Amino acid sequence: MMEAPMASATTAAPATLTDSFGRSITDLRISVTERCNYRCLYCRTGQGETPAAAAPSGEELSWAELERLARAFVGLGIRKVRLTGGEPLLRPGLVDFVATVAALGVTDIALTTNGHLLAPLAAPLRRAGLTRVTVSLDSLQPDNFARITRVPGGLDRVLEALDAAAAAGLWPLKVNVVLLRGYNDAEIEDFARFARRRDCVVRFIEFMPLEQGSLWSRDRVVPMDEIVQRISRVHALDPLPRKPGETACRYRFHDGADGEMGIVAPVTSPFCNQCTRIRVTADGKLRTCLFSLREWDLKPALRDSDGAALADRIRRAVAQKEERHHIGEPGFVKPARGMVQIGG
Ligand code: SAM
Repeated sequence: MMEAPMASATTAAPATLTDSFGRSITDLRISVTERCNYRCLYCRTGQGETPAAAAPSGEELSWAELERLARAFVGLGIRKVRLTGGEPLLRPGLVDFVATVAALGVTDIALTTNGHLLAPLAAPLRRAGLTRVTVSLDSLQPDNFARITRVPGGLDRVLEALDAAAAAGLWPLKVNVVLLRGYNDAEIEDFARFARRRDCVVRFIEFMPLEQGSLWSRDRVVPMDEIVQRISRVHALDPLPRKPGETACRYRFHDGADGEMGIVAPVTSPFCNQCTRIRVTADGKLRTCLFSLREWDLKPALRDSDGAALADRIRRAVAQKEERHHIGEPGFVKPARGMVQIGG
């Protein structure tokens, strides 16, 4: 039998970022703005601000700075990039930034959006290299949609955006639903029918204590077991295998219908041991966990000309990635910045 050739000294191993618990970090979420045109009650406060005018908590990185950051992360082994916010489509220049990230060789570029501004941008984003889109949609009833987002008349625009995304080939189409007891939990079965009818992936997300207000309580969280039971009463489900780094428990419909259901259950079924993610906020702070109490400012290192300081800072932060979050445990401390500022 022939021996495999030894790697020569000049053959560089692919770069990887690994934390102290042995998790490979391959998935970067970049928040491109903290501003948002919705005021979802599980995320933002509804008081004293016009929808798009939430004051940023820090200065936004320029697109050129974001490009340098993305280049550094890709050089360190990041393979998936998700653009988020705030509402990322509020920031002019997003299509060009998608093209920039694609030119770095990233083949999995996703966007999380509320969909309000997506319809005319879906095809340009796809052409620029966006591969996937996740649209947040928390109610299928116009009144309830407005009650949750605190913006009237948005539902039709979001449904139109889903059509435009599908037509543009942004596939599979994912819909995020944050379930809140007493607000939209009566719509669980409707969302299952929606997934079948539209052939999309509906992901229910357990409500996490990351809102700017104080709506969160354990009673508001609709747990995964209940969601699965409720859907199964109307449509039998078969579990799908969990992919590496996957946050959702996934199900297909037993009768072979189109569509897929998923449940992201960070509260009742945490998946921290599978976590492959890190995040950069719009003002250039690296967060190694959604619930991190510490942020790593990358801006000073961005000024370093050869990028070595930036790579070093990223590696050092990742080495200190938290083992897990502590939601619901005594002594749990909510991060100072909420989801809209961190980037979901
Ligand atoms: N504006 C975009 C949107 O609405 O999709 C992107 C940013 S938003 C912060 C990203 C995701 O986080 C959304 O799917 C939203 O529903 C989810 N989210 C926000 N606050 C949350 C919370 N407290 N618990 C669970 N998910 C939350």
